[in-house]
Amino acid sequence: MATFDDLKALVRQNNPAADIPRLERAFAFAQTAHAGQKRLDGSDYVTHPLETAYTLAHMNLDLDTIIAGLLHDVPEETAVTAEEIEKNFGSAVAKLVKGITKLGKLKYRGLERYAENLRKMFVAMAEDVRVVLIKLADRLHNLSTLSALPPIKQQRIARETLEIYAPIANRLGIGELKGKLEDLAFKYVYPEEYDWVIKIAQTRLEDQLAYVKGVIKQVQKILSDNNVPIVSIHGRAKHYYSLYRKLIRKDMDISKVYDLVALRVILPSVADCYQVLGLIHNLWKPLPGRIKDYIAQPKPNGYRSLHTTVFGDDGRIIEFQIRDQEMHDLAEYGIAAHWHYKEGGQKTINLPPTQLKWIKELLDWQKEIKDNEQYLQALKIDAFQNRIFVFTPKGDVIDLPDEATPVDFAFSIHSDIGNKCSGARVNEKIAALDSKLKSGDMVEIIVDKNRGGPSEDWLKFVKTNLAKSHIKNYLKRKRGGLLNFFNRRGKQ
Ligand code: MN
Repeated sequence: MATFDDLKALVRQNNPAADIPRLERAFAFAQTAHAGQKRLDGSDYVTHPLETAYTLAHMNLDLDTIIAGLLHDVPEETAVTAEEIEKNFGSAVAKLVKGITKLGKLKYRGLERYAENLRKMFVAMAEDVRVVLIKLADRLHNLSTLSALPPIKQQRIARETLEIYAPIANRLGIGELKGKLEDLAFKYVYPEEYDWVIKIAQTRLEDQLAYVKGVIKQVQKILSDNNVPIVSIHGRAKHYYSLYRKLIRKDMDISKVYDLVALRVILPSVADCYQVLGLIHNLWKPLPGRIKDYIAQPKPNGYRSLHTTVFGDDGRIIEFQIRDQEMHDLAEYGIAAHWHYKEGGQKTINLPPTQLKWIKELLDWQKEIKDNEQYLQALKIDAFQNRIFVFTPKGDVIDLPDEATPVDFAFSIHSDIGNKCSGARVNEKIAALDSKLKSGDMVEIIVDKNRGGPSEDWLKFVKTNLAKSHIKNYLKRKRGGLLNFFNRRGKQ
């Protein structure tokens, strides 16, 4: 459990110029407002906003966000109003707290309520993504104190975390928080599987960690022999829930999980990354098909790194993740890295445009789908599950739902390309417009400039909401046009 002194130390460490007296005033304000209130586990209520703020500080967010974390439950849970927060801490903090209050208590109260809350969350995210970061930090602490709640509530909250919060954290690129949220929820949603994963992982994990220690020494030596400076090198054990998901894909055979402990090498520059990849391959033979260049081809959530899996000494298999510090920050903190303090000003890390585009897309089509059940369905398909990644001829990555077709691809590039699309080449071969794309496909759309617009038949096979709404809009406009034409004729 974090104390207020821990929080202060962390804030100071991240940003030596931080206004600590302001942070102290915020904590005192939260303490007074929540005085006498207890959490269900018997602890003082203020421990909860304190832990929330600590998580935000750990993500290296700006002081306004950390203060909003300290005050996030004040308007909802106490007699103190958002106006008083504004008077004491300014409008930026008040806006964040109001955003959290507006989100309300995200609880399942039937499907309707669930969908409504999600809608609110995406609106908040588009207005200021920090509101959702506070909500995620809030959820993390609520999960870690879940044992104090009745089993039915535990289930609800844990399940909602796996279905909604962790995927959002993932899409925002915050790998660190996503892993923590999933592992905490895992044992409530799948208790037997959780125990099982822990049991099979543990013996192997210790063994692998010991082995990795030796590998680290060898890598340090070859890098120093070649005068490559290292920022840091460490082994990282896979999170339990993601291990469980992987085991399901690997016939429950843990010997096929090569990244149980991955070795992370953080280097000063991109050029160093490629050089070190070469040095490692020179020492150990890589497994075929497992070299991934996510620097040249980042994942859609912005993740960048070089990955390779090699046969180490004694034929033991080990995965390397090679990156520079900025890539590392983005992998751990994702969108939150945008607010990291940098000496001489903030925001030196540019966000991957795909993230911002994703948020905007969610917002656009959530306005269109009025039916809540349909909305949830679309959300699960479109936003979270079973994504495939295909390439444009120029090598840009387009992220689509499973079973998406060339028409979905065309509309995700541009509505004009969708409207005028007349054929497609997949991996340089002509393919039907309703063929199902697979991850790694290279897709090229054949455009017919004289084409009037999309065909109604396409509605039978397109998978993305974006394509559906473009086609429907076009058809509506076309019918509207015809109707006007007949109306005018009628009047003559
Ligand atoms: Mn809270």
